[in-house]
Order: sequence, then structure tokens, then C-alpha cells
Amino acid sequence: MRLSRAFLTILALAFEGIGHAPSAAQDRNGRQPTCQLHLHTNTPSTEAQPLLTALRDLESELEWRLDLPPGREPIVVHLFRDRRAYVDYLHQHFPQVPYRQALFIKQAPPGQVLAHLGPDCQRDLRHEFVHALLHSRLKQIPLWLDEGLATYFELPPENRPWQSPYFASARIAATHGSLRPLHELESITDFAKFDFSEYRDCWAWTHFLLDCQDGPRAAFLQYLAVLAQEPGPAPLGRMAPPPLNSLAMHLLSLEYR
Ligand SMILES: [Zn+2]
Repeated sequence: MRLSRAFLTILALAFEGIGHAPSAAQDRNGRQPTCQLHLHTNTPSTEAQPLLTALRDLESELEWRLDLPPGREPIVVHLFRDRRAYVDYLHQHFPQVPYRQALFIKQAPPGQVLAHLGPDCQRDLRHEFVHALLHSRLKQIPLWLDEGLATYFELPPENRPWQSPYFASARIAATHGSLRPLHELESITDFAKFDFSEYRDCWAWTHFLLDCQDGPRAAFLQYLAVLAQEPGPAPLGRMAPPPLNSLAMHLLSLEYR
């Protein structure tokens, strides 16, 4: 989910800022990851701190896995103690925004991520935080790729891909030959047309492009590098069209744990 709306003053709520995330260790390329995350929360620090650490690790992982340039602006994460506090805040400050369990709101920098504690909090926060990280580092990102990367990284590494809500369905679709080709996903530019199967196919293509052994990973990273430099490059499906049967074979080669 991502929204571009009129950006309203967002610090009216009496949040306790637990501050800038601590500096992470160098990544595997020996670089010091960019530190973009600022967390504002009214939850106890015992609950907020593990989430902050997880987001900080995610930022570092995204940077080295996608070989992204440093972020251009800070990202403010607002974490509410419960759903009611979150909904009240949305009603007060973003009455025109349809309800979602979590949100990324991008207008004027910094990007804002809003979420509340609950059973899906970690996954929701990771998903929206990925959107924020991508939008602060790339000049442009197609909708399919924005959602594909957000659904890919919404789970921590140890739970991928088996615990993804799209994993089983994508394998069934691969068996039935009903996955969308990449160029079809690329033609969807209206977020309102996104439903479960669109998210699933974005996740599946992203998993294939990032994790398929001997797959098109190098071309995919090159495409991301272009997106970081200039808006409007040719669609990946036209630049280096990966075959649909390779995607199906990749998905069916994955095993449950
Ligand atoms: Zn999303």
C-alpha cells in the first residue's frame, strides 16, 4: 500500500521519540549502511525496541541485496500502541485516506510510515518501510516492483519464502499456467486494480529475479541501478524479458520447510 496525499502536520500527537536507530555493523560489502530511520512511538520501549532493530536490519539488508545507493532523506516511523490510537490519528489527520492496517505516506520529505501494535505488526511495518526505503532511493519505481519488493522483504530472511501468504498459491498457479507474464504486470499502473493474485504474481516474479540460481539476477540489479539514476527506463519485461516457464520452474523447485 502506498499513498500520495496532502502531507499534514504529523507530530501533533504526543509521541515519545525513541530516536534514531543505532548504527548497524558494516554490511558484507564493507559499507556502513545509511541510517534513515527515526521512530516515534507511544508504545513501551520493550515492545518498540525489537521492532526498531528489525527495521534497522531490514534497511541494511535491502541496501546490500539490491545494491542501492544511500537514502536521500530520513524516514519517520510512527508506531501506535493499539488500533484505536492509530485510527483516531488517521481520522484526525488523514480523513480522506481509506483505512489500512499500516500506511506509507509520501508527499513532502520525510516519508512517513504509520502502523500499530498487533498480530501482523512486524509484517505490516516491514512492508511499508520497504516502500519508504525504495522511494527515498530510486528516481522511479514501477508499481509491480514496488509491491513485489515490499511483499518479498515483509518477512524476515529465515521465514522466506515458505511463510509468505503467496507461496502456496503461486506454486498452484505455476502448475496451472495461470501466472501473469511480467509485461502484463508492468501494464498495471492503477493501484485499485491490485488484489491478491496481483500481489502474488509480483511477489513470485521478484522472488525469481532475486533468488533463482543462474537466473536473471544481474540484469535485475542493473535495472534497479537504472531506476536509481533516471526516471522512465524501458520496462524490464521489454529490456530483458524473462521466460514465464522459468518462473514456474523456479517456484516449483522450492520446497516447504
Ligand atoms: Zn504495498
